[in-house]
Amino acid sequence: MTTAILSALADEQRGLIEQLKSPVKMLRAGREFWCGELYGHPVVLALSKIGKVAAATTATTLIEAFKAQRIVFTGVAGGIGPGVRVGDVVVATEFLQHDMDASPLFPRFEVPLYGRTLFPCDAHLSALLLEAAHASCTSPEGLFNVHNAEANLAVHSGPMASGDRFVSGAQESLALQSALLSQGLVPLAVEMEGAAVAQVCLDYGIAFAAVRTISDRADDQAHVDFPRFVQEVASVYALAIVNKLMQMLPKK
Ligand code: SAH
Repeated sequence: MTTAILSALADEQRGLIEQLKSPVKMLRAGREFWCGELYGHPVVLALSKIGKVAAATTATTLIEAFKAQRIVFTGVAGGIGPGVRVGDVVVATEFLQHDMDASPLFPRFEVPLYGRTLFPCDAHLSALLLEAAHASCTSPEGLFNVHNAEANLAVHSGPMASGDRFVSGAQESLALQSALLSQGLVPLAVEMEGAAVAQVCLDYGIAFAAVRTISDRADDQAHVDFPRFVQEVASVYALAIVNKLMQMLPKK
């Protein structure tokens, strides 16, 4: 079973490419795909690119051209849920598109013709990813504790919201949260790709799981916090979590 590991950012992918056994680089749809083996599993590594359309193209290519049978996404996100702080890790349970609005024809946030607002992640793969995140981050030997013993950082699991917008203002973030809440939606984090990949995976019946390290609080500081965080923290966590997950996945 081929596992695709989709990274949002090149910094996150670099460590995985370095570890890849028998690496072969292929070009498709203007993107690079790295095929090889990690911990005895056939894998294909790809960058999602930024935004929903780019991520959907990458996911579709992974499935159609590289026969990926499950997709694991790693990236960073803005924390909008209560108690979701910079440095925390969120494993997604489901995704919504916060910029989808075909009202009044369809309820706000519902994806027309799918009859749904929430696109689920695979429960089994997500449970393994959550375990991998706990093991690599919050356990006594985990990265958080080794590097930042006092920080008391947390691993969360819950819904995430995607949209073609870097949410970087406290007012904007609050307005978005209250619009979502009015439909009973309380995402923990906001980012720009996950919901698109979740939708593609639902279309194809492929298992999908996603983990995001919180790089900012989607507030007025977001653009300052973001770049430093990606290089110094998020890529290290993404690599550790994926390595752990690959060791935990059953070989078939
Ligand atoms: N110049 C940056 C662009 C990053 S865009 C670069 O390429 O390094 C932001 C990326 O991080 C997207 O992939 C998105 O999924 C995620 N992200 C992090 N914080 C976010 C926020 N507050 N709002 C939306 N997306 C966010």
